[in-house]
Amino acid sequence: MSDNNEKQRKTLDERDQMSELERIRHSTAHVLATAIAKLWPDAQFAYGPPLLEGVHGFYYDVDLEHRISPDDFEQIEAEMKKVVKENQTFEKMVVSRDEALELAKKGRLAALGDREVESVFKIDLLNEIPEDEEISIYKNGDFWDLCAGPHVPRTGNCKAFKVMSVASAFYKGDADNPQLQRVYGTAFKNKTQLNEHLEQVEEAKQRDHRKIGKDLDLFHIDEAVGQGLILWKPKGAVVRQELQDFIGEHLDRQGYSQVFTPHIGKLDLYRTSGHFPYYSDSQFPPLAERETMKILADEGCTCGELSNKLESGEVAGFLLKPMNCPHHIKIFQSNHHSYRDLPVRLAEFGTVYRWEQSGELGGMTRVRGFTQDDAHIFCTEEQVKEEIMGCLELVKIVLGTLGMDDYRVRVGLRDKDSTKYVGDSEKWDKAEQALREAASTLGTEFAEEPGEAAFYGPKIDFVVKDVIGREWQLGTVQVDYNLPERFGLEYIGSDNAPHRPVMIHRAPFGSMERFVGVLIEHFAGKFPTWLSPEQVRILPISEKFLETADTVYQELRNAGVRVTVDKADEKVGAKIRLAQLDRVPYMLLIGAKEQESNQVSVRHRDRGDEGAVGVDEFRDKLVAEIRSRNL
Ligand SMILES: [Zn+2]
Ligand SMILES: [Zn+2]
Repeated sequence: MSDNNEKQRKTLDERDQMSELERIRHSTAHVLATAIAKLWPDAQFAYGPPLLEGVHGFYYDVDLEHRISPDDFEQIEAEMKKVVKENQTFEKMVVSRDEALELAKKGRLAALGDREVESVFKIDLLNEIPEDEEISIYKNGDFWDLCAGPHVPRTGNCKAFKVMSVASAFYKGDADNPQLQRVYGTAFKNKTQLNEHLEQVEEAKQRDHRKIGKDLDLFHIDEAVGQGLILWKPKGAVVRQELQDFIGEHLDRQGYSQVFTPHIGKLDLYRTSGHFPYYSDSQFPPLAERETMKILADEGCTCGELSNKLESGEVAGFLLKPMNCPHHIKIFQSNHHSYRDLPVRLAEFGTVYRWEQSGELGGMTRVRGFTQDDAHIFCTEEQVKEEIMGCLELVKIVLGTLGMDDYRVRVGLRDKDSTKYVGDSEKWDKAEQALREAASTLGTEFAEEPGEAAFYGPKIDFVVKDVIGREWQLGTVQVDYNLPERFGLEYIGSDNAPHRPVMIHRAPFGSMERFVGVLIEHFAGKFPTWLSPEQVRILPISEKFLETADTVYQELRNAGVRVTVDKADEKVGAKIRLAQLDRVPYMLLIGAKEQESNQVSVRHRDRGDEGAVGVDEFRDKLVAEIRSRNL
């Protein structure tokens, strides 16, 4: 559970700016607490913030003898409805620190009346309020809570809500603190919006790539290997390989050169690039050389000292690569380049490692090792626009082929008042103009976002909306003036003088792990035929037809189709159900009639029965469908 952000108190300004939805959600958290206090008067409440992103709309942390379970939700909601029906006013009462403390000591805060016990967490929270800040109590009916607001006027404004789930969470997110029960809920302005949200949540649950990934045997995460490290199983590897082949074809067409680079590099390389030590919080710790380790151990050097020496550069070491760029730069630098060689386009499915907090890891979308469909383009300033257009074309083809046609394009520009950007402003103007012009050729609306550029150059991001309306940031294209400078990259211009090339980083999928995770959810596991790990399953209706099944199997195999035969001694209905569960696009039924006529009865997972056709005819149609990568 990550509550680092919630630990910080909101400033008064931020509170003033709370949106209407936040007010509703925050107020509904009070209504929830009122209901829980009614049902279990010993409840001790801690934090109860509104949330604007994700599945939940708010939570309230509570310490309570009774363990709240989903069985209690109905009862809690019933109590909440009573509070809403009473239409209590949210009344603000400004108090002195002493008055607030006195109330808390009587157990009166986050409660319906005085209690035998103190409102322990509220005393703690009270002590965190800065000296000069106003202290207020909000009352709705008999429920009083320490709160800075703001709220909706009355409990009657909180009429569309639902208690969603309960989890455990440490007070203030700190494992040394008591463990509390975190009750999640959501609230909306009206019932229609609430129901839409609940349907979406249910659909998302059905599509969860962690669940489908397990059901379809696509990938595995093993504690013994490590959290956030994806093991691609044979079926998942097929999906990934197909995607890599697909993009590889377009890279060939666009004139990219394939390279391979190792998974580690010297610390000094990343000092030059600036990735170390500035970003060391998001990296695995460096590896020291064996000889160095031995010498330092003999000297009695502690781990802490070693780490300092690595960081200061006193001893040499290696880093698991957090980025592929420095390796590609060194490949570029290993030759002399004239302007005639440019652009140089180096592509690699390069695996990188990042340190993510364990609480933030989840399935394939947050991981510690991932493979980028990475490439770096080294070009002249004049070539930037055309190269960007090539990158955008690629992203467009990828997303179009996968039926992800609903996306937004963001062009991240610099904030002209800021001094954090490297490179002179004339270059920036040119590059920003180039990006704008390239983006306008997409035929999709794009938003210019000043201040969203990286410090080293402007960029274009693709934000894809999936079939249930969730947004994912995927492909990105970035112009870079910084690394060519830091590494002193050069090419010889037509004037015979050395010039600095511009670098473009781009990754249309982003990472293979994250992309396949998103794809699983996008397709709900029903990959188009070309991506399906198993494209055809042959279902002989009894063992008398096994031989014919094998002949058909061979014929399809020879045509490059991924096909299996279900030889189980089961009724054909059961075989069909299993194939449907496994999301196999085509099922071929073979019985006496089919055997005699040298035909197969075709069944599609979505379209159902498609009748009997000759084996050759089926094969040719299928191969054409796979080759054209139809959806
Ligand atoms: Zn409040
Ligand atoms: Zn890069």
